[in-house]
Amino acid sequence: MATAQHFGRTGCDATPVLRERGQREVFCGLTGIIWLHRKIQDAFFLVVGSRTCAHLLQSAAGVMVFAEPRFATAIIEERDLAGMADCNDELDRIVDQMLLRRPDIKLLFLVGSCPSEVIKLDLSRAAARLSVKHGGTTRILNYSGSGIETTFTEGEDACLAALVPGLAADASAKPSLMIVGALPDVVEDQFLRLFDALGIGPVHTLPARRAGAMPPVGPNTRFLLAQPFLGETARALEDRGATRLDALFPFGAEGTTDWLHAAAQAFGVDAMQFRRTIAPGRERAKRALAHARPLLEGRRISFLPDSQLEIPLARFLAIELGMVPVEVGTPYLHRRHLARELALLPAATRLSEGQDVDRQLDRVRADRPDLTVCGLGLANPLEAEGLTTKWAIELVFSPVHGFDQAGDLADLFARPLRRRDLLRV
Ligand code: SF4
Repeated sequence: MATAQHFGRTGCDATPVLRERGQREVFCGLTGIIWLHRKIQDAFFLVVGSRTCAHLLQSAAGVMVFAEPRFATAIIEERDLAGMADCNDELDRIVDQMLLRRPDIKLLFLVGSCPSEVIKLDLSRAAARLSVKHGGTTRILNYSGSGIETTFTEGEDACLAALVPGLAADASAKPSLMIVGALPDVVEDQFLRLFDALGIGPVHTLPARRAGAMPPVGPNTRFLLAQPFLGETARALEDRGATRLDALFPFGAEGTTDWLHAAAQAFGVDAMQFRRTIAPGRERAKRALAHARPLLEGRRISFLPDSQLEIPLARFLAIELGMVPVEVGTPYLHRRHLARELALLPAATRLSEGQDVDRQLDRVRADRPDLTVCGLGLANPLEAEGLTTKWAIELVFSPVHGFDQAGDLADLFARPLRRRDLLRV
């Protein structure tokens, strides 16, 4: 099992964290809609925002906007801002129209934005009001994806946390497992097969693929977070009596083993059976990682804050591929959920939370890491300064969890280095 002693490192759990506030270069939580709308197949995300929010979604979704996506922006016009129209009436009208046209929508999220928050439009009241009206056919919930409240993946956290109070109560005496976090279907299916082979069940996922199939929750629910950015959702589940299983996040062979092991232990799976069941997947992951290792070993890497995946990924790269994390920045550091990850990070790693982008870029320039993981807005400027970069967004949009994706995950980091080496020749 992956433990600090096992890898002979002191760990980063006691390392002071550089806390920075200032200019930030991050996405707002609206971006989560891009993967959430594909995951929950009968949900619709209606952003109540400005043209800026609509532009953001269009550019982040790319070609998806041509595929009749299940998201849209109700644009707050100047006359709404001027108080000439009652925003609530307008919103009701839009929702009525939309649900009439799209009877396939079973779950509607009203998503708050900076403008809707600044004008104090009460979307939770609107959701409650509209739920009564459309109660027979569509559930209506709300959450905030605004840049004031949320950074990038925190939009998913807010969305899932909004689902929790409405989950059915699970009063059964038998423990059940819940996987929490929107994973690509192919990855989710792999995990479900593994839990089945381990004899663990029933297993549910939050979110489910359909509004009507959301999992029940109760004191016998044990849950595994598949993503590190789900602090609010975890708290909401704990409020409903569920217990979080503490584990590394399922990145790489070690992370995935530890994550599965936490469930195996909670469900009393025999150690021999556990090892036998996971051995083929673990071996495949190890082989794929051995292939990527020569290119990555010893290379220095810095992460700029983006998604909260930074710490688990730095742990994976350090432990399994021999990379050297220089600075690992995260928009928010959830110490309790990341305690085991921090214990495995090399002690010399510089940790930072939040951002003052100019100071952080000065540190990147002084460190000159071999690879800098950053957002699209910083990647090209840094490349122009001779630094090699990896777009952080791909780490969220690509299937990266579990044994069978470990090689692809390593390759996401290897690719820019390989390209740089090729172009240099
Ligand atoms: S929610 Fe705020 S940060 Fe996000 S696109 Fe709209 S205005 Fe910009």
